Amino acid sequence: MADQSHGHGHGHGHGHGHGHGHGHEGSLKRFVSRVGHAFTPHSHDSADKTDSALESSSRGMRVLAVSFAVLMVTALVQAVIVAFSGSVALLGDTLHNFADALTAVPLAIAFSLGRRAANRRFTYGYGRAEDLAGIVIVLLIAASSALAGYEAIIRLINPQEVAALPWVAAAAIVGFLGNEWVARYRIKVGREIGSAALVADGLHARTDGFTSLAVLLGAGGAALGFPIADPIVGLLITVAILFVLRDAAREIYHRLMDAVDPRLVEHAEAILASVPGVVRAESVRLRWIGHALRAEVDIAVSHELSLVEAHHVAVEAEHRLIHDLPRLRAATVHADPDGPAGIDHHADLITHR
Ligand SMILES: [Zn+2]
Ligand SMILES: [Zn+2]
Ligand SMILES: [Zn+2]
Ligand SMILES: [Zn+2]
Repeated sequence: MADQSHGHGHGHGHGHGHGHGHGHEGSLKRFVSRVGHAFTPHSHDSADKTDSALESSSRGMRVLAVSFAVLMVTALVQAVIVAFSGSVALLGDTLHNFADALTAVPLAIAFSLGRRAANRRFTYGYGRAEDLAGIVIVLLIAASSALAGYEAIIRLINPQEVAALPWVAAAAIVGFLGNEWVARYRIKVGREIGSAALVADGLHARTDGFTSLAVLLGAGGAALGFPIADPIVGLLITVAILFVLRDAAREIYHRLMDAVDPRLVEHAEAILASVPGVVRAESVRLRWIGHALRAEVDIAVSHELSLVEAHHVAVEAEHRLIHDLPRLRAATVHADPDGPAGIDHHADLITHR
């Protein structure tokens, strides 16, 4: 049985027209209905993605680079105004924009590292470098919230006049425009390449745009003779950063624990159940390696099938999963003989589980 669990890694890369290394010849005879499928050139990216994985990857990299540049310029302009106005609300917003701009750096390193081929030490490749980048990002966000909160509290204790209020207001608007531009760009490209992460990043930038506008409230309050409005807005911005921190930390915790959206597991089970020859799906395990999913599944097939026939069912199961489960790149499929009644084909393993 263990023979069936060898990875079905017969050149199931992605984005190629067709021609898997494994022969479809046998399956043509048995699964006549899919002759058309086997001969029609088709991409192994799921239907909702138009670009190949590599194209998507480089478009994603370009978005990272452009977002980095725009947010860096935004934050630098704001930093100059922080320096001569002494606004702590603006300081909080500036730190937040710096942290967000810098998140592109570990992500870009991880993306390019993730393209390296697997080797004998890193047998699953380098995709999980993205998780390491996630930890660095969480630390960056934590540091920026700590600094913004600290400065706001110091200013609440020792109130100070904020200088150059019109400039502070202008910096708030610069922050809003920079973030909103990045938001639209990320959401547009994210939808085009099917990257939920990029769309989520875009929505994050959009909320950050409104955080920047909050600085206006502080400046307005100070102009009306309430200088304390500035540190209060600074504290509110700190709270907003803490929410971002919580979401980012939860996300990276899930990745480190190999958690997936349970709906993906249900989807995989439904796909497996629809494969001709699969009696039932017995166990489905999914995990993310970078921005690609991998699966390990057990299926039951009739005990009357030959090894070659059972193997075909397993290959077809992997093939269907690759096509129908977004972002899945490979599956290891173990085929168990279903029946005859009363025989446990895993008897030797019982005491080891
Ligand atoms: Zn195989
Ligand atoms: Zn295919
Ligand atoms: Zn942010
Ligand atoms: Zn088995």
